[in-house]
Amino acid sequence: MVVCTKCGNPKVVISRKQSGQFLCSDCFIESINKKVQQTIRRENLIQKGDKVMVALSGGKDSVVTLDILNSYYKRHVIDLCAVTIDEGIKGYRNEGVSIAKAHAKNLGIEHKVVKFKDCFSIDLDEIMEYENHRGSCTYCGVFRRWIINRTAREFNATKIATGHNLDDESQAILMNYLEGNINNLSALGALTTSKSPKFTPKIKPLREIPEKEIGLYAIVKGLDVHLAACPYAHESFRMEVGNILKDLSKQHPTIMYSILKGYDKIKPLVRENYPPQFHQGDCVKCGEPSSNELCRACTFLEELGHEVQL
Ligand code: SF4
Ligand code: ZN
Repeated sequence: MVVCTKCGNPKVVISRKQSGQFLCSDCFIESINKKVQQTIRRENLIQKGDKVMVALSGGKDSVVTLDILNSYYKRHVIDLCAVTIDEGIKGYRNEGVSIAKAHAKNLGIEHKVVKFKDCFSIDLDEIMEYENHRGSCTYCGVFRRWIINRTAREFNATKIATGHNLDDESQAILMNYLEGNINNLSALGALTTSKSPKFTPKIKPLREIPEKEIGLYAIVKGLDVHLAACPYAHESFRMEVGNILKDLSKQHPTIMYSILKGYDKIKPLVRENYPPQFHQGDCVKCGEPSSNELCRACTFLEELGHEVQL
C-alpha cells in the first residue's frame, strides 16, 4: 500500500514523479508553503513592512498566491491589497471578478477592480474587431501591466505579487530564446525592479511550483477559483510553447525545473551583455515609465485611434 513518505498517512493526494515522493494533503500543503517561503527568503522578495498588491484574476494561481501571502499578512509581516483587471472579455471575465471580490472581502483587504474600458475607452473584445490587430494577448499583456503599475502606486504598494508558476516561467524563458529576444530574457526572474521611481518591484512567489500542484493546492484547501479558460488563449504563441513543454514533461518530469535553474545560472552573464531595457524616461503622453518616447500602451492606443483616459 502506498503511504505518505513524510508521515505514513495512507490518504495520499499526490505522487511526485520528479522525487518519487508520495504526500498526504497536510504534508503536501506544508511542502508547498515551505517551498514558497524558501523562494521568498532566498530571492529576498519580501521585507517586513512591505505592502504587497496581488494581481488577483480569480484564477488558481493568483488565488493561491493570495492565500500563501495571507499567512504573512496575518502575522503582521506585510500589508496586503489586491487589484483585479477587467479586460472586457464577454462570457469569461465576470466570474473571475466575482470570485476575486469574494476572496478580498473574506480576508478583509483593500481591493480594486479596474476596467480596460475606463482606462482606455476601449475593451479587449472591441479591439479584436479591428482588422489589423496585433493579437489579443499582446494588447492584454501590455494594457494589464500598465494598469497594474498605476494601481500599485495608488495603493502605495511597495511590491506587486503575480501568480506566475513554474510552467509560466519556463515557457517565458523558452519563448524568449526561440524569438531571439535576449533583452526580454534577461528581465525574467523572481524579482523585477527598475530604476524608475514610478515602477513598483514585481515578485513571483510561486515561480518554482508546477501549475498542476497549484491546482491541487486550491482543491485540497477548498479555495474557490475561476477555472474557465480565456476564449482568446488559443491565439497565443505562449500556449504553443506550453504544449511542447507539457509533452516533453511526460518523459522528462524535471524538464521545466531544469530550464528554470539553468536560466538562473546564466542570467547574470546574459544581463551583463543584454541588460533589460526597462526605463529611459517617462512616456510623453501618459507619464508612465517607458523605454521609448511613447510607452507601448500609448503606441497601441494611437494605432487604434484611442488614448489613455487620464
Ligand atoms: Fe489576456 Fe491572452 Fe490571457 Fe486571454 S489568454 S487573458 S487575452 S493574455
Ligand atoms: Zn503612455
